[in-house]
Amino acid sequence: NEKNSTDEEKVQVKRESQPAIFIPVHRSSEIQEARLKLPVLAEEQVIMEAVKENPAVVICGETGSGKTTQVPQFLYEAGYASGSGIIGITEPRRVAAVSMSQRVAKEMNLSTRVVSYQIRYEGNVTEDTKIKFMTDGVLLKEIQKDFLLQRYSVIIIDEAHERSVYTDILIGLLSRIVPLRNKRGMPMKLLVMSATLRVEDFTENQRLFRTPPPVVKVDARQFPVTIHFNKRTPLEDYTGEAFHKTCKIHRMLPSGGILVFLTGQAEVHSLCRRLRKAFPFRRGHSVTGEDDEADGSEAMRKFKKAKQKKTVSLPRIDLDNYSALPLDEGDEDREAEVREEEEDNDDEGSDLDLGDHPANSVENADPSLPLYVLPLYSLLAPEQQAKVFRSPPPGARLCVVATNVAETSLTIPGIKYVVDCGRVKKRFYDRVTGVSSFKVTWTSQASANQRAGRAGRTEPGHCYRLYSSAVFGDFSLFSEAEITRRPVEDLVLQMKDLNIEKVVNFPFPTSPSAEALVAAEQLLVSLGALKEPPRTGRVQEMERARLSCPITPLGRAMASFPVAPRYAKMLALGKQQDCLPYTIAVVAAMTVREIFEDLDRPAGSEDESQKLTQRRARLTQMKKLWAGQGASLLLGDLMVLLGAVGACEFAGCTPKFCEENGLRYKAMLEIRRLRAQLTNAVNAVCPEVGVFVDPKMTPPTEHQVVCLRQIILAGLGDHLARRVQAEDALDPKWKNGYKTPLMDDPVFIHPNSALFKTLPEFVVYQEIMETTKMYMRGVSAVEAEWIPRLLPQYSHFGSPLESPSPWFCSTTGTIRCHRPSTFFRVGWQLPAVEM
Ligand code: ADP
Ligand code: MG
Repeated sequence: NEKNSTDEEKVQVKRESQPAIFIPVHRSSEIQEARLKLPVLAEEQVIMEAVKENPAVVICGETGSGKTTQVPQFLYEAGYASGSGIIGITEPRRVAAVSMSQRVAKEMNLSTRVVSYQIRYEGNVTEDTKIKFMTDGVLLKEIQKDFLLQRYSVIIIDEAHERSVYTDILIGLLSRIVPLRNKRGMPMKLLVMSATLRVEDFTENQRLFRTPPPVVKVDARQFPVTIHFNKRTPLEDYTGEAFHKTCKIHRMLPSGGILVFLTGQAEVHSLCRRLRKAFPFRRGHSVTGEDDEADGSEAMRKFKKAKQKKTVSLPRIDLDNYSALPLDEGDEDREAEVREEEEDNDDEGSDLDLGDHPANSVENADPSLPLYVLPLYSLLAPEQQAKVFRSPPPGARLCVVATNVAETSLTIPGIKYVVDCGRVKKRFYDRVTGVSSFKVTWTSQASANQRAGRAGRTEPGHCYRLYSSAVFGDFSLFSEAEITRRPVEDLVLQMKDLNIEKVVNFPFPTSPSAEALVAAEQLLVSLGALKEPPRTGRVQEMERARLSCPITPLGRAMASFPVAPRYAKMLALGKQQDCLPYTIAVVAAMTVREIFEDLDRPAGSEDESQKLTQRRARLTQMKKLWAGQGASLLLGDLMVLLGAVGACEFAGCTPKFCEENGLRYKAMLEIRRLRAQLTNAVNAVCPEVGVFVDPKMTPPTEHQVVCLRQIILAGLGDHLARRVQAEDALDPKWKNGYKTPLMDDPVFIHPNSALFKTLPEFVVYQEIMETTKMYMRGVSAVEAEWIPRLLPQYSHFGSPLESPSPWFCSTTGTIRCHRPSTFFRVGWQLPAVEM
């Protein structure tokens, strides 16, 4: 029976999805010539046959073989976009979605009205769009609205080897959507495209596809790449090492482009500056490189006349820990870069690591060897990105300094030398505390080989690895799928919103750990986003129920807010109380990293030191003012945030105001943007509330402050801490310490916190950061009697309050509060309250 239906499906697929038409495309001869060199062209027929015969096909080919730019064109020409359905392509990175849509439009000689893109905040999709490039998060959102994706006749999941969380989920979902569409006579095709990395997770996963999809391999002609390992591995200054290697290549080796892999935007800019100084290409050649077309020799002549200045600046402390998760899009690079950009607020003056190296000194700058240096990273403006595809000015050598965007997403022509720092910036999560941070770690062998491969596309090349072969031997073989490395409460919530109740049974290409799934369901249950599983029945049944909790209306509202579930809960509650604009402002400020300037940084000069001291004093004074007095003080650090946002907006949010008051202008702009976005999201869920975005905001009343504190408690309930009790206080280690249910060691209120002197008995915190001590960040005081009422899920209601119902209590007796799982094992006594 089963077999019959598949045969039937096939017949139907064959009959309905074989477009008989051929749609002509008029390409320029130049484009046509370049296309014919791409290996994927040789496989067009094989690919199109496979697509015709199968609902799902995997295409696997070396980076640069033409998958992304050509396969959509094959499908277009074969008529897959000639009916009502269009061709959709997902990319894990925004850069790729934008850049590839433009390239394909150009190759096909079609307007961007027809070949368009959609990323989270922007796009150029029109009614005429036939080929749509988008980020994977955008398609996931569309599935939420229309599960069958009826607008599409084909979905291409590109860069599947990157194993981004959303790509993985999309493949899982599409493995169900495609057969469903075919069964309903609305045929649809799925193409999964990947670099030549492990594809077995997709093809041999029985839960994904009943019959393994065929794999079409595109054999790219790859020239040999000689690998050169470093003898020793620099542990810290790999940017410096990359600089020396690049200089050496440029000075000593024959022509050919250089591609340097670093980990983030700040490093990229720092190396670009150093290289430009060492090999000046023209005077004042800026990061943006406006007039690249200018003649090189003219530029050098000007350069020689130019007066040079030497700048010194300072090491920066690392502030990239933060706790909000990106929800509707998974562009890790962009995330990392946004954070970095926020922290990287000392632009041109920050060539801190210059001084010592002889090659860096101005005397050694060598204008006779022009080097055309271009940065490439995910946040770079599209016009700037496009530069890497053009030929360098005559006489100059191309040098692209990139993050791992250049590893597989974008192929830069003419690269002969690769310099690989061997590292990558990744987000890490602490399993216990849920704190996340971006850290630089070793990459995998597979990625390192991908990077090396960039050097051998047009002729034999060289790859210089800034680490030893022994270190390489210790790299993991492949990069882990992201989904196994992060908490998944946001994903679980999104999936429940798609009515996927049993997330454990979902056909993930690689499943998150059962532990992570349980933790996510538990957090979501405790936030009220999922219905609590029954506590009766047999153990097995209870276990099962714990992993398939249905979504609640509150959960649906929360799923529509583009912030992590804890903050979404606050937004949802803010709506019920009378303080939505404040809740939105607090959530926006909490999800933007570090709104205050780092004035504790060491100063470079006497003068600067004095200025910093003055500004610090000013900020301290302002913080006091923003924290308010009396009742508002108990909202603590969050009141300071609210006050700062309010004050800044009243002053018109100018760079001047921010500068004078120790606020980071970029952070304040981001908060303003988020406030507008969150307000729209709330209005969409609940139009009757009808809040408007007025950037200006009067201070909250005392009543509103009390409400806000409760809203915060409801969202951050699992981040509750209690001041140390008398018996422990004798231990000097615990002096002024706080106990949390999660850790054995004390945590502390930071001296910079508004509550440092107050030391309330109960507080909630946004996150814990470890510096000299374990410090809580974003601290707000809560009242003991709110806890059982707002966090019943964490409260154990003991006798004498068991009858008639644990929810009822008189004013006698106590309620013991503890958390039922192993983490939540503290037995704090709480006052009894009437519920
Ligand atoms: P794959 O997806 O297999 O990695 P692509 O389709 O991205 O390959 O790239 C195919 C070719 O198109 C590469 O040689 C690349 O350099 C070229 N290419 C891509 N985008 C542009 C662009 N904007 N301008 C010029 N060439 C481009
Ligand atoms: Mg590609």
